[in-house]
Amino acid sequence: MPKRSPSSLDPRAPLVLDTRDLPRRPGALRTHRRVVPAPADLGVELITVPVGADLDLDLRLESVSEGVLVSGTITGPVQGECGRCLREIDYSVAVNVQELYAYANSTTDDTTDEDEVGRMQDDLIDLEPALRDAVVLTLPTNPLCREDCPGLCPECGVHWDDLPADHSHQQTDPRWASLSQLNRTEE
Ligand SMILES: [Zn+2]
Ligand SMILES: [Zn+2]
Repeated sequence: MPKRSPSSLDPRAPLVLDTRDLPRRPGALRTHRRVVPAPADLGVELITVPVGADLDLDLRLESVSEGVLVSGTITGPVQGECGRCLREIDYSVAVNVQELYAYANSTTDDTTDEDEVGRMQDDLIDLEPALRDAVVLTLPTNPLCREDCPGLCPECGVHWDDLPADHSHQQTDPRWASLSQLNRTEE
């Protein structure tokens, strides 16, 4: 397998973790607390974290023998549309991440695929793929404004909440309508 070229990550990028101050001694710990802007397209079709929104990173970086274990919580706002009534939804989600990033040339690096275990790129970690996976797993594919949202009347498109209980679109037959018109003129 070809070895990766030297890191192409930018250590100042919001979702790149710099581990240069973390000793490569198992058990060494650093915390990483930061608010960063959300990348584009973070989410699923109907509900996403708005691009540039504040993502609150509360992470722990721990040296283990084969690499760095990143764990913690990332919190941010999500916005979307109710799948039944199209009302706007916005709330905040907290996703847990726990991911091992193997050192280059470690046994883990040599014996696993990159999609199983993350990789350090020199002293840098690209957190974005793990963040994307965690967010996509957390967000509902069919978001609802509330669990029992009744949706819209298919005839007039008005929310069932805003319609009387006996709302219906039963048409009176137009022939009967004209008959009753006749009756009226005869009177
Ligand atoms: Zn709804
Ligand atoms: Zn209706």
